[in-house]
Amino acid sequence: MLETPFDKFREECGVVAIHGHPEAANLAYLALHALQHRGQESAGIASSDGRLIHTYKSMGHVADIFTPERLGRLPGHLAIGHTRYSTTGETALLNAQPFAVACNKGRIAVAHNGNITNARELRGSLEREGSIFQASSDTEVILHLVARSRERLLEAALREALLELDGAFSLVFLAEDRVIVARDPHGFRPLAMGQLELSGSRISYVFASETCAFDLLGAVYVGEVEPGEMVIVGPEGVTRERYAPPRNRAHCVFEHVYFSRPDSIVFGRSVQESREMLGRMLAREHPAEADVVVPVPDSGVTAALGFAAESGIPFRHGLIRNHYVGRTFIEPSQGLRDFGVKLKLNPVRHLLEGKRVILVDDSIVRGTTSRKIVRMVRSAGAREVHLRISCPPTVSPCFYGVDTPTKSELIGANNSVDEIRRFVEADSLGYLSIGALRRCVADEEEHGYCYACYTGDYPTDFVDLEALMRSRTRLG
Ligand code: AMP
Repeated sequence: MLETPFDKFREECGVVAIHGHPEAANLAYLALHALQHRGQESAGIASSDGRLIHTYKSMGHVADIFTPERLGRLPGHLAIGHTRYSTTGETALLNAQPFAVACNKGRIAVAHNGNITNARELRGSLEREGSIFQASSDTEVILHLVARSRERLLEAALREALLELDGAFSLVFLAEDRVIVARDPHGFRPLAMGQLELSGSRISYVFASETCAFDLLGAVYVGEVEPGEMVIVGPEGVTRERYAPPRNRAHCVFEHVYFSRPDSIVFGRSVQESREMLGRMLAREHPAEADVVVPVPDSGVTAALGFAAESGIPFRHGLIRNHYVGRTFIEPSQGLRDFGVKLKLNPVRHLLEGKRVILVDDSIVRGTTSRKIVRMVRSAGAREVHLRISCPPTVSPCFYGVDTPTKSELIGANNSVDEIRRFVEADSLGYLSIGALRRCVADEEEHGYCYACYTGDYPTDFVDLEALMRSRTRLG
C-alpha cells in the first residue's frame, strides 16, 4: 500500500507533560516558554483535576495566549502542553493542540510532536468505519484509534493504537488520573524525562521535548524516554514499558544542527557540544583566509564560535538580530527591497567594512535568505564573503516533522555547490561533510541518527518515493 504522508509533514512542535504538581498548568506554561522556538503559531494546555480535563488553546505565542485568569481555569495536578508551527496552510485553531475528547476509556487529551506517515491511510479506514474528524491534523487519528480499541484499559488501548502508527511521534497523553508518554520505535523526535522534588519528599515527574524546559522548572534530567517506550505515571507510581520492539534508531540530526536550543540535552547529548564541533569541523574542512568570523544569528552562533576557536580568526557579531519581529508582518507594497530580512537583521558596518568575512549559518534551504544576507554583508563594506554551512546540502524533504520544502524548492537538490555559491553570490561556499556531521553527534559507530534530508535515504519504508514526489509537487 503506497502512502503519501503529506497532510502534515511540515509541522514543528514542542510538547510537555507534568504529573503530581499542585500547579501543573503553571509549570506546563513555563515549560512552553522554554519550548517556544519549536513552534510559534499556536499553543495549548490541558490539565486534569482528577475528574475533568480542562483545555485552553489559541493561536499565537505562549506569552500572549495565557493570562493569569486563563491559567487559573486550568486546575489540577496533571497537565500536558503543546506549541506548534505549521506551514501546510492548515493554520486554523482547529488544529491547535492538545486535542481532548471523552470516550469509552474516559476523558483523554493528547499532544504530539512529529509526523505520522500512514495517517492518511488510517484516517481513511477510520472514516469508512464511521469516525468523524474535526481537524486535518494526524494527531486526531490517535484518539480515534484509542476510542475504537476493544481493550478496556486506556494503557492497553494506547499500546494497540501506537502499534498501528508509522513515522515520527513523541506523544504526551493526559487521562483523568494519569499522564502517559510514548516515543516511536525509531526515536525520530526527542522526549526527555525529569523529576522535580516537592516538599515532604514527594516527586513530580515532568516530560519535555528539550531539557531547557527542565532548567526553567528546576527539574532534574533523568534521561530519555526510549524509542518504543511508553511511560505511565499514575496513582500506582511510574511504569516504564516497551510497547514495541526496538527498531533501527533514527534520531533527527537536524535537532542538533538547528532545531533544538544549545542549552538542551537532546537524545542524551548536549546540543552545545555537537554544534560547537560542527563549527570546528567546518573550519577544518573548509578553511578560508579571513579577518572575522560572523554568525547568522541566532542559528549560526554556536557553530561560528566553534569555527572561530578552531581557526583562530576573531568572532564578531557583525549582524544584529531584532528579536521582536514575528513570523508575519505587513510588507510595504514597494520601494524597500529585501524588507523581510532587513527587518530581522542589520549589519554592523563598523565590524564589516573592508573585511574578509566568514559568514556561518546552519543551513541553506531555498537559498533566498542566504543570498539576501550575503548581499547585506557586502553592502556593509565587506571585501570578501565566504559562506560556511554547518551541515551537508539539504537535498530531500523531511517526512518526520521538520519544515523542509519539496525537492523542487530545495536549492541543494537541484544545483551543484558551485551553482549554489553563484546563486547566493558568495566568494566561496563550504558545506560540512556527512562524515564530519556523524562525528559531531558522536554517531560514527552506532548509526543512530536520521540523515534523510542530506542523503534522501529514509529510515522507514513508507513509500514509493517517485509517486511521493509527484504527488507532493502537485499538492505543493
Ligand atoms: P533559505 O535558504 O533562504 O530557504 O533559508 C535558510 C535559513 O532558514 C537558514 O538561516 C536556516 O537557519 C533557516 N531554516 C532552516 N531550516 C528551517 C526550519 N525548518 N524552520 C525555520 N527556519 C529554518
